[in-house]
Amino acid sequence: MNEHPETNTPLNSDTGGRTCSLLSVVVPCFNEEEVLPKTHPRLIEVLETLPVHAFELIYVDDGSRDATLDILRGLQGADARVRVVVLSRNFGQQIASTAGLQSAAGQSVVVIDADFQNPPETISEMLDCWGQGADVTYGQRTLRIGAPAFEKGMSGLFFRIFNRISGIHIPRDSTEFRLMDRDRFPRGIVAWTGFLPVPVHFNQAPRAAGETKWTLGKKLHFAMDGFLSFSLVPLRLATWFGLLSTGLALSGIMYVLVLRLLTNAWISGWVPLFIAVLFFGGVQLVLLGVLGEYIGRIYGEVKRRPLYFVKERLGFTSISQ
Ligand code: UDP
Ligand code: MG
Repeated sequence: MNEHPETNTPLNSDTGGRTCSLLSVVVPCFNEEEVLPKTHPRLIEVLETLPVHAFELIYVDDGSRDATLDILRGLQGADARVRVVVLSRNFGQQIASTAGLQSAAGQSVVVIDADFQNPPETISEMLDCWGQGADVTYGQRTLRIGAPAFEKGMSGLFFRIFNRISGIHIPRDSTEFRLMDRDRFPRGIVAWTGFLPVPVHFNQAPRAAGETKWTLGKKLHFAMDGFLSFSLVPLRLATWFGLLSTGLALSGIMYVLVLRLLTNAWISGWVPLFIAVLFFGGVQLVLLGVLGEYIGRIYGEVKRRPLYFVKERLGFTSISQ
């Protein structure tokens, strides 16, 4: 029997033996033309051995610029269990996974990398845990073959610092590779339709009458709007100025100290005062910049932009998708 990794309590075995009616396997793919021909047949092979009634394999093409999409089209055409969500551009692994999850119809859902860095055989163990009542099981790496020591060190450090300062406990070495119960995460409601802008050309005629209403002031306002709602650069200015000013102040302090220690010269008057002002001003600006980063994230959330846009969906039959 499987045990909860932290509490060592056996998972609820009353639900044991529940069999998954439909398992969804989500695979985010970005420029994986070399990997897919190798991993797809193997993945299908493994999935066919699983004790589930049915499975669907959802590939998410995350704006690949190579032949990935062509390969996926081929795979989908050859096997009705394969589905493809094509995103309009590269949104990154997490968002691509989310897009796949929101298209998944399975009772339980697995997210797995295309490159087989997560062994698909593990899915069977995850299903066991799920059958015994686990809502989420995640892949935890025990061994990272071939990862450079530096990368391992950095990721260890990340988990340690994150767990310390965030108040949430993320198990060390956990990966994106996980199996989730369908009812435990909200289902995506809308299938965002594709938005490939098609240009229509025309010749602009001069104004029929009157003056332009598009005044300089309005244009400036419009430009500011565009800039501010698409960029966090203005918020980051504080950080950059702060770092610059703190850096200058620190070199000033060094200069004064070195001069004092190595020579008889002693800088007095307004210079030390100026350095102090520069230093504290800089520190404040950096902290303002930190605030700015938080505000930037809040701003990103309140705009409620959709996370991603789907350009095309292949192999999904039900209209509720
Ligand atoms: N991936 C993605 N979008 C991206 C980058 C990666 O969908 O912008 C996918 C990639 O195709 C793979 C998975 O995410 O299936 C993990 O990526 P990768 O193997 O490059 O990352 P690593 O294993 O080095 O962390
Ligand atoms: Mg990888």
